[in-house]
Amino acid sequence: SLSHAQESRYSFEKGMMGSPFKLVFYAKNDSIANIAAQSAFKRIEKLNEILSDYRDGSEINMLSAQSGSGKWVPVSDDLFNILAISQDISKKTDGAFDATLGPVVQMWRHATRKGVFPQETEIREAMSKTGYTKMKLDSKAKRVFLSQKGMRLDIGGLGKGFAAEEAVKVLKSFGIKSIMMDAGGKIVLTNPPPGTKGWNITISNGSDSLKTMALSHIALATSGPTYRYMEYNGIRYSHIVDPKTGIGLLFHVRTTAISPDGTVADALATAFSVAGIEKSKKIIALFPDSKVWLVEKQGEHVADWNTLE
Ligand code: ADP
Ligand code: MG
Ligand code: MG
Repeated sequence: SLSHAQESRYSFEKGMMGSPFKLVFYAKNDSIANIAAQSAFKRIEKLNEILSDYRDGSEINMLSAQSGSGKWVPVSDDLFNILAISQDISKKTDGAFDATLGPVVQMWRHATRKGVFPQETEIREAMSKTGYTKMKLDSKAKRVFLSQKGMRLDIGGLGKGFAAEEAVKVLKSFGIKSIMMDAGGKIVLTNPPPGTKGWNITISNGSDSLKTMALSHIALATSGPTYRYMEYNGIRYSHIVDPKTGIGLLFHVRTTAISPDGTVADALATAFSVAGIEKSKKIIALFPDSKVWLVEKQGEHVADWNTLE
């Protein structure tokens, strides 16, 4: 159409939340494109101030600091919304996704820095402060209750997907319609690029197989052991933790989840990695609009499960 013919492709990149964030969209002119992109990145910076587990003063860390106080703590809409999605996914995945793993995640980060495998007692101690059922949400008053002292929330498993969704909302508010937002491998797509059938997205199973699809109005998230893991005694542990054991996944899993919502896609990619192929087959039945490509490897064992057509 005529209006599409007047639009140009713009691309912006910025390191955020510890990952490269890339924004591609079509807009009428440079000034709209620049202000829209800057506003989208500003929105993500604001979210990072709320959600970062690296900043003591972030809203999420201040909430965790009140765990065990017996108080319901009022929180921002952003924090409430992300915790509500997280709790919903935890329930539907039987706890494979768990945003209360903070004490365990912190313990593993510390162990990785020192190169020392944690003692069993340390793991048990950290694990005793986890469990998504210890977090309660009051959706009317937007308040959160953390029942046990020492709890620590960690939304690293869905934060980038949430950031991507929020950035897309900002771009849409500038009248931009064809958007690809890639937040460190968590991708949200709106309308196809003008004159095309979709955004050409290539995903890989981590070894030999590639798939390219023309996609629009959908989100995809990939989780994999490519660069974030701990190696000890020749064994590789993923930064994704099994909430049942408190130990990083030993399976080398690579998971791509596709879902209408970026936050859900991100959480599902993490949850499917934990659950593995057999359990994930039951979980996906609860997410009829979602699809998955999951590859498990451990020694000689390799299994590939793909519901993308
Ligand atoms: P990445 O963001 O590194 O691409 P993920 O989306 O899978 O990968 O998120 C991994 C992060 O999620 C970890 O670094 C940790 O902060 C957190 N996490 C680890 N295990 C779990 C789990 N079982 N459920 C929810 N979050 C987790
Ligand atoms: Mg992460
Ligand atoms: Mg994730």
